[in-house]
Amino acid sequence: MLPQFRIGYGYDSHEFKRGIPLIIGGVTIPHNKGLGGHSDGDVLLHAVTDALLGAIAAPDIGSLFPPSDPQWKRADSTVFLREALKRVASVGYELVNLDSTLVLAAPKIGPHTAAIRERVAELCGIAEDCVGIKAKTPEGTGTDNAAIAHVMVLLQRVLSSTDDLEKEAEEDLDDILTLIGPRAT
Ligand code: MG
Repeated sequence: MLPQFRIGYGYDSHEFKRGIPLIIGGVTIPHNKGLGGHSDGDVLLHAVTDALLGAIAAPDIGSLFPPSDPQWKRADSTVFLREALKRVASVGYELVNLDSTLVLAAPKIGPHTAAIRERVAELCGIAEDCVGIKAKTPEGTGTDNAAIAHVMVLLQRVLSSTDDLEKEAEEDLDDILTLIGPRAT
């Protein structure tokens, strides 16, 4: 029987580079540098995508969208997130909530937290109060020229109809009867 809940964890890091826009959580943030990488460098959406894929034990973002494939050059990272959400739904789960921590020296994320939360909630199809966005500076880690994202997600199993519930109850009963069967004979 599929578990009722699943958790997932995602991590990503990207290096700051001049001459490209800074996009975090699907929001363009004014800054003199952006995040390099093969796609649009959205470190937060990549970590959310990997957390979702990890929760259902699917292949990770790098396996599904290889950086060596030219079609993902400067790609909009919402494409990766949508594929992960589609896979979550296809195996019978839905996202309950997510929590994230960004680690970067600059720019300050505080003024953009509300916009990022709103966009991530919209992209994930969950309420804004189910999206945690936290940011820290990389004190003592020597990663001032990078942005890092940690994300955790909780998924719950979706039961599409009462038929599913009845079928599940029957299966549970069968399991119990199998267990007690030998003693009864
Ligand atoms: Mg990435």
